Amino acid sequence: MYKKIFGSIRFKSFIIFVIVSIAPLIVLSNMLISSFHTDYEDVMRKNMFRKANTIATNLIVTGYFNEDRNEVYLNTINALVDGRTLIIDINGMVIFDSNDIETGKLYVTEGIIEGLKGESKYSYLKKENVGKVVTPIMDTQTKTVLGVIVTTNSYESITTSIASMKNTALLIVMGFVILIIILSYFTSGLLTKPFKLFIKYIKGVTEGHIDEMLIVRGNNEIEEISISFNHMIQRFLEVEENRQQFVANVSHELKTPLSSMKVLAESILSREDVSKEIYREFLEDINSEVDRESKIINDLLTLVTLDKKDNALNITKVNVNELVEATLKRLKPIAGKKNIQMIFESYRSISAEIDETKIALAITNLVENAIKYNKDFGLITTSLNADHKEFELIVKDTGIGIPEDSIDKIFERFYRTDKTRSRDTGGTGLGLSIVSKTVRMHYGTIKCESEEEKGTKFIVKIPLKHIV
Ligand code: ADP
Repeated sequence: MYKKIFGSIRFKSFIIFVIVSIAPLIVLSNMLISSFHTDYEDVMRKNMFRKANTIATNLIVTGYFNEDRNEVYLNTINALVDGRTLIIDINGMVIFDSNDIETGKLYVTEGIIEGLKGESKYSYLKKENVGKVVTPIMDTQTKTVLGVIVTTNSYESITTSIASMKNTALLIVMGFVILIIILSYFTSGLLTKPFKLFIKYIKGVTEGHIDEMLIVRGNNEIEEISISFNHMIQRFLEVEENRQQFVANVSHELKTPLSSMKVLAESILSREDVSKEIYREFLEDINSEVDRESKIINDLLTLVTLDKKDNALNITKVNVNELVEATLKRLKPIAGKKNIQMIFESYRSISAEIDETKIALAITNLVENAIKYNKDFGLITTSLNADHKEFELIVKDTGIGIPEDSIDKIFERFYRTDKTRSRDTGGTGLGLSIVSKTVRMHYGTIKCESEEEKGTKFIVKIPLKHIV
């Protein structure tokens, strides 16, 4: 349960929203506070140096360091300083302390020694939270150091104002955090809402509501997914419909010869004193219906085998000229029955990597059709040619032709332009499906050109080298 919640896109996007919006807020407020601190310290330092320099100059100008030691100025310093100020002479003696504690005492530290050498120095004393400035009192004419001024200034005020700034910032950040959390909660919910719809829809499809469309709008990616999903379902429905249609067709086609047999058998059984000739005639009819039934079953089995995914082609190098010639020779007697003349035009010797049995069956089907749908005393021209990539087999007849609007459909299973005629000629409507499937398996193409009452031409092209 917890895993489901924490692993969900909603939870993850919620966390990302929160982090991405709060982190900069915290960093920014810290940066502002720290820059405020630096600026404040800078101002304080400059102020302390300025005051110390003023005192130093005034001490010299008012003659404190003259021989008569004019101390008048010392009495006015208190009004000038706000932090603590010490004035130390060259011997390390405190001559002025604004707090009046160290006056008259010796006060020598490392900083003061450096100051007496002419060095100015600023430092921050963390423990006391004060800034400290040591400035030498320099006689500009003689370039000699006469003493040092030490100024310290408490940073208490800056610390309290920063603390109150921090509090205000914290309050603002907290306010934003709450606002961002609420906003992120809703936006993450809004983002993942289409997924919920999607899941609900998929569950519906699984339960059988397959006809319903998934409609998710307003979100490009999700909309795209839903469109693709709808296409997939649509395709699935088409496949399912084709399957149902195929099963219905198969049942119908298998039933027709059976019904004929039943009618024939019943009518002969109902008669009495039937002559031997009539029996024979009926039995011959029944026999031809059995043949028809078995042809349909054979064709169906061939198609099913071709359809199987693991149905591999048995590829060998085959002399195509010999294969076509042998096929035509086998079919010659059938053509002969309709006085159809068969011509074979072979332009070059062709050797190709093909499945010999399957291609032989495809050629047989094409030539058989050319015979079946030809007129008596018609002509069938089979021609074979090749370039460096593929061979081309054309089977052309002078038969009844195919109506223009049927040409696209003749490769469909069980499709026949004229059902009764095709049935009379022993057609099952599966021959061309077998041909086109075989050609496609060889990565070839098949095209049909036809004109009614003039004839039909099938053009098959197959690569010489098999593509693995
Ligand atoms: P069938 O077993 O009925 O011949 P096919 O799949 O071989 O089935 O062919 C489908 C349909 O295409 C046939 O019923 C026929 O109407 C038409 N057809 C095929 N070949 C020819 C042809 N050479 N001339 C005219 N019509 C043809």
